[in-house]
Amino acid sequence: PIEPWYIGGPVIKGFGRGSKVLGIPTANLPAENFSALLSEHTSGVYFGWAALATLGIYKMVMSIGWNPYFDNTEKTIEPWLLHEFNEDFYGEELRLAIVGYIRPEANFPSLESLIARIHEDGRIAEKALDLPIYACYKDSPYLQNS
Ligand code: ADP
Ligand code: MG
Repeated sequence: PIEPWYIGGPVIKGFGRGSKVLGIPTANLPAENFSALLSEHTSGVYFGWAALATLGIYKMVMSIGWNPYFDNTEKTIEPWLLHEFNEDFYGEELRLAIVGYIRPEANFPSLESLIARIHEDGRIAEKALDLPIYACYKDSPYLQNS
């Protein structure tokens, strides 16, 4: 288990690398706001709860990874909310409670195997967040007051 941590900010445009087209949209946060916090956490896949000011609280799985566009000095945070939304929510305040760690960053031999692994990560997050030790963080004041 990890010590839960909390971050938030407005949802910004990512690099548009087509994650939505792949069925895995990731709501990017401005990572430069918490680069110190991020550098304390190992790159990899985490799960937790995501609150959107007007839309509610949802399960999420996310990657924290090095951004090659910034000479490996900045990490990106890319949460995939495990819910089907009818509309995008760019600019909305998004708050995250990050409560568990799934795996380190990895290389994949193909796009298909990467996508399959992310879906597996999503299933792991779905199940884990139903466990009382992780479910309780849905009630975090930080998320409720967003
Ligand atoms: P970008 O490169 O701009 O981040 P993506 O293809 O990753 O584009 O899509 C992310 C955007 O899609 C989010 O900013 C959000 O507005 C929207 N979106 C819709 N559904 C979801 C979801 N389930 N999880 C995360 N973002 C979603
Ligand atoms: Mg994205």
